[in-house]
Amino acid sequence: MLKIDMHSHIIPKNLPNWTEKFGYGKFIYLNHNEDRSADMMQGGQFFRRIKENCWDEDLRLGEYEQFQTQTQVVCTIPVLFSYWAEPKHGLELSEYLNNHIAELVAKYPKNYIGLATIPMQDTELAIKELERAKAIGHVGIQIGSNINDENLSEERFFPIFEACERLGMAVMIHPWQMMGFDSMKKYWLPWLVGMPAETSRAACSMIFGGVLERLPNLRVCFSHAGGSFLPTLGRIEHGFNCRPDLVAIDNEVNPRDYVGKFWVDCITHDIDALKYILKMQGSKRVCLGSDYPFPLGDLEIGKFIEESDLSTQDKENIFSNSTLEWLNLNKSLFL
Ligand SMILES: [Zn+2]
Repeated sequence: MLKIDMHSHIIPKNLPNWTEKFGYGKFIYLNHNEDRSADMMQGGQFFRRIKENCWDEDLRLGEYEQFQTQTQVVCTIPVLFSYWAEPKHGLELSEYLNNHIAELVAKYPKNYIGLATIPMQDTELAIKELERAKAIGHVGIQIGSNINDENLSEERFFPIFEACERLGMAVMIHPWQMMGFDSMKKYWLPWLVGMPAETSRAACSMIFGGVLERLPNLRVCFSHAGGSFLPTLGRIEHGFNCRPDLVAIDNEVNPRDYVGKFWVDCITHDIDALKYILKMQGSKRVCLGSDYPFPLGDLEIGKFIEESDLSTQDKENIFSNSTLEWLNLNKSLFL
């Protein structure tokens, strides 16, 4: 059975020192260690240690083979978005990351699929890079759940989504710059509590702001099974019904109507939670995702689904059909 992991992160082995080059900011670069790990440096400060499976394309393929997964959809690590940078620098950085992934996809067309990064801080440059990314082989983009703390319902982002729909570029929404970060650093709370909330923030913003209503052919996938959006939809819908003066001001359509129209990945680490998501979304709107190679991901690439009592059809939808439909790609390309 074809297995495509639609949520994995990759970084070029070598990054320019943009902080030095541009003369400001806390851009990410890598300090490589003798044990083949690397320290991600944010400006001059240590951010996180990563392993070579973050950049080594062949090593990654070998690790995926252990879980019978042939194809990886790759995108950058959200901390590299750098939406805070000056637009022209955001563009330069996006071009660098997108070229790296495009070369990888050209080299291994059956094994890698690319999602681009675009400088969301500047609508015009974002669309320019979106068009270029498509031309060099990307099939979609990954963007943050907020852009410098602005919600995705802000009108200045709409032309970007409109361009994605026009160009047939899929959109993956990934949580980052988690709300409440500074006030809950202990216990890894930004990742455990903030990330699911961020994704729900993005889904609610795009629904209440009418983005999904105005762009019915925009193909959007929300990370981490949609975060807290689907599990708390009852509350969200009730809020829409009881306080339309607060909630339904830009879109009069019930938020529940959008369930099953967007995609989510399966990263729940809990088969019962996944079954609930499947009941809401249908298996054609739930994709195999792992968040590889990071420890909070499902690093056994869907083994809990394989071992579950879900039907073969549901498994086949999750493992490849949903992702192929989200990205508008033909299965034969990967067989
Ligand atoms: Zn991720």
